[in-house]
Amino acid sequence: MTKKLTVAFASGKGGTGKTTVSVNLASAAAAAGYEVAYLDCDVEEPNGHLFLNPSIRRRNPVSVPVPVIDPEKCVNCGACGEICQYSAIVCIKNNVLTFEKMCHGCGGCQLVCPSGAITEKGREIGVVEEGEAGGINFFHGKLNIGEAMSPPLIRAVRSAGKNNLFTIVDVPPGTSCPVIAAIKDVDLVILVTEPTPFGLNDLDLALDMVKEMGIPHAVVVNRSEPENNLARDFCRKRKVRLLAEIADDRRVAEAYSRGELAFNAAPGYRAVFDDLLSAIEKEAIR
Ligand code: SF4
Ligand code: SF4
Repeated sequence: MTKKLTVAFASGKGGTGKTTVSVNLASAAAAAGYEVAYLDCDVEEPNGHLFLNPSIRRRNPVSVPVPVIDPEKCVNCGACGEICQYSAIVCIKNNVLTFEKMCHGCGGCQLVCPSGAITEKGREIGVVEEGEAGGINFFHGKLNIGEAMSPPLIRAVRSAGKNNLFTIVDVPPGTSCPVIAAIKDVDLVILVTEPTPFGLNDLDLALDMVKEMGIPHAVVVNRSEPENNLARDFCRKRKVRLLAEIADDRRVAEAYSRGELAFNAAPGYRAVFDDLLSAIEKEAIR
């Protein structure tokens, strides 16, 4: 690998094994001598650290700007309430009320205020932690409990880990705004699925999303069984490259429940992730 490569592991739904694939691939890459970073952008429920056991070296709080009103300067024109698309600032009679948790920090209200009555303060939404784990540069975001505004924290995790040669992004499940923030500008999205009707239904949605965003993509089937052709047929029909199939193996599930890497528990799996690493490199330079 001679130029920077950022690969995101996403899935239309939770529980497909996206984190298992991400952390094992990161370990395989580190063992192969790559300068690799693992970014856990599943900031509502980060769990990559349970498998990689990083030493955390730095914690950086992340804030979003929210408006502060100076009642002495406010002329009660109502412009701020009109511009806000999120009902985060409301003008009632002679009062301006703000709802900080609904504010997206766009700065629109400050721009339209004719009297300079609006300034900004930071509202902390979570923290980015950085560390090292067995040769892997480790980054994850932890969203504050009860906090809904995850995209700014996800962007902060992406930004913190951007200077590595090979970057693996563990994406939140689903197809909503946090996923868009996590996969924006990556070189390749690997959609991790399981060969079940539910899994493929959500894969279908995720596939539409990455196609719409114009990001190169491929599929990895987790918990694959030789006689089950559902995922293979799906990929053929949707004309998407099936990059790897990871066999269903009870030892891997047991390792997951103990917070261990698959290829420590089942040594044959090391070759699976070495092969996946090669396949990703080839896919990225296609
Ligand atoms: S910064 Fe944007 S989202 Fe927040 S209150 Fe002002 S207009 Fe609304
Ligand atoms: S835009 Fe400024 S002056 Fe107008 S109501 Fe809002 S805070 Fe007051």
